Amino acid sequence: MAMLLNPAQGVTRRSFFRSMALAGAAVPASAMAETEKIAGAGVLREPARDIPVRDDADVIVCGAGPAGVSAAIAAARAGANTRLFDINGCLGGIWTAGLLCWVLDYKTTGLADEITQRLDARDARRAQRRRSRYAYEPEEMKLLLENMCTEAGVKVRLHTGVRAAYREDRRLTAIVTESKSGREAWRAKNFIDATGDGDLAAFAGCGFDLGQPGTGKCQPLTMYALVLVKDAEALKAYLTEEKDTADESQRYRSKTSKLMRELHRAGTPPSYNNPSIFYIRDNVVLFMFNHEYGVNVDDADAITAATMNARRELNAMADGLRKLGGVWDNLRIIATSEHIGIREGRRIHGLYQVTMDDLAKGARHEDAIVRARFGVDVHCLSLDNKEDSHGEITKGLKVKPYDVPLRALISRDLDNMLMAGRCISGDFFAHASYRVTGNSVPMGEAAGRTAALAALSGRLPAQVGISELKLEPET
Ligand SMILES: Cc1cc2nc3c(=O)[nH]c(=O)nc-3n(C[C@H](O)[C@H](O)[C@H](O)COP(=O)(O)OP(=O)(O)OC[C@H]3O[C@@H](n4cnc5c(N)ncnc54)[C@H](O)[C@@H]3O)c2cc1C
Repeated sequence: MAMLLNPAQGVTRRSFFRSMALAGAAVPASAMAETEKIAGAGVLREPARDIPVRDDADVIVCGAGPAGVSAAIAAARAGANTRLFDINGCLGGIWTAGLLCWVLDYKTTGLADEITQRLDARDARRAQRRRSRYAYEPEEMKLLLENMCTEAGVKVRLHTGVRAAYREDRRLTAIVTESKSGREAWRAKNFIDATGDGDLAAFAGCGFDLGQPGTGKCQPLTMYALVLVKDAEALKAYLTEEKDTADESQRYRSKTSKLMRELHRAGTPPSYNNPSIFYIRDNVVLFMFNHEYGVNVDDADAITAATMNARRELNAMADGLRKLGGVWDNLRIIATSEHIGIREGRRIHGLYQVTMDDLAKGARHEDAIVRARFGVDVHCLSLDNKEDSHGEITKGLKVKPYDVPLRALISRDLDNMLMAGRCISGDFFAHASYRVTGNSVPMGEAAGRTAALAALSGRLPAQVGISELKLEPET
C-alpha cells in the first residue's frame, strides 16, 4: 500500500512508516527511496508488488447487471467453473442497484422467461397490457438472482471492482480486482465484459466507440426514486383524467404533460422533459423525473456530482409535490438508486457492428442470438440545444425487428473475450435500441454458453457454432 506524503494532511514520513507498520506490511527499502524521491510531485510511483492469483476459472464475467448475471448463470449451467464480479452489494445492476423496475422488449423464451415465471411465483411482477414490458419489485429481483446464481454454482463476488486486465498478444490472461480483500488476480480461459461501460475491454486495450458520432456526447444519466403515495389508483386517475382514451400514446402524452404542470406548480420543474411514474405495487410507485446531462462514464467526479445532484433534485420535487396536498399528500421517498443509471458507455469493437442500417432493414443473421424490436431511444443530450433533442436526433429513423448476431458479442481485438449487454459492438443509434434489458438477458445467455462451451472444449469463442448454443431466439 502506498501513500502520498502530504504534511498539510498530517501525512509525514513518520506517520507513513507507522501506518505501514500497523498495516503489518514490510516496507521495502525501495519504497522508502521512491516515496522520498517523489514527495510533492503530485504523482505517486507505486512500488512493484506481487498479488495473489485467487483462481483459474473457465469463465470470468465482469459486471452482474441483467447481461452479466444471465451470462454467469448460463455458463455455470453449461458446466463451466464460473466467477462473477460486481462492484455493488447486490446482483442485477440497473435492475436492482439502479432501481429500474421496468423491463422493455421482454422475451418469452430462455432465461428471460424463467426469470419472469419465477417473479410471478412470488407475485413480484405487474404484467402490462403490452406483453413486451412489465414492472417488477427490485428487492424480489435481488433475491431471485442470488438464488439462481447459487443454484447454478456461480462463484459470486460482490463489492469487488475490476481494476486492471493483463493479456498476452490476443489472449486475455488475467484480471485484477480490488475489494476489502485487497488487490487480487484471477485467471480464466474466457472472459465476458458485462460492465455496461466496457471497463474490462478498455483496461485490456480494446478498441471502442463512445457517444454520438462527431460530438462524443453521451445520453443523460437518471436516478430513480421509489415513492410511497397515499393512493396510487387515485393518483393514476388524477393524472389521466384529462385524456382517458384507448390511444396509449395520447394517454401517455396527456399524463406526462399533466405531471409536468404539477411539477411546475410545485416549483420544481424537472430536469427530464418527459417525467413518468411507474406503478410497482399497491401504493409504491417509481418516479422517473431526473436527467443528468454531459456526464462521461470514465469520470468518477462527474458521476459523483450527478448522483448527489440527482438525489437533491428528487427530494426537492417530492417536498414540493407533498406541499400541493391532494393526491400528493404524505408522499414519502422510500429509496433512491444506489447506483445512478448510466444509459451509455463504451461500445466495444466486435467481429460485427450492429448499425442503424440493420435496424432500418430488419436485418436477419445466421448467427442471430436475439431479435430486438425496441425503437431508437436517444434521450435528449442536453436541454438547451434543439439539435440535442430526442426528436431531432431520431428524426426519420424507423426500426423493423432485427437480429443481433453472436459476432457482435465477440471481441475484435481479443480472441477469448466476449461482451454482453449495452457494451456490445454497435453504432450510436443501434445501441439506443438494443440496450434495453429485454435484450440484455438473451445476450448474456448466449455469451455465457459460448464462453463455457469454448472453454470446456479447448476452442475459441468464435469457433463455437450457433447451433451448439441451443438458443430459442424469439421469432
Ligand atoms: C436511466 C436508465 C433507464 C433505462 N430504462 C430502461 C427501461 O425502462 N427498460 C429497460 O429494459 N431498459 C432500460 N434501460 C436500459 C438498460 O437498463 C441497460 O441498458 C441495461 O442495464 C443493460 O444491462 P447491462 O447488464 O449491460 O448493464 P448494467 O445494468 O449497467 O450492469 C452493469 C453491471 O456492471 C457493474 N460494473 C460496472 N463496472 C464494473 C467494474 N469495473 N467492476 C465490477 N463491476 C462493474 C455495475 O455495478 C453493474 O452492476 C435504461 C437504462 C438507464 C441507465
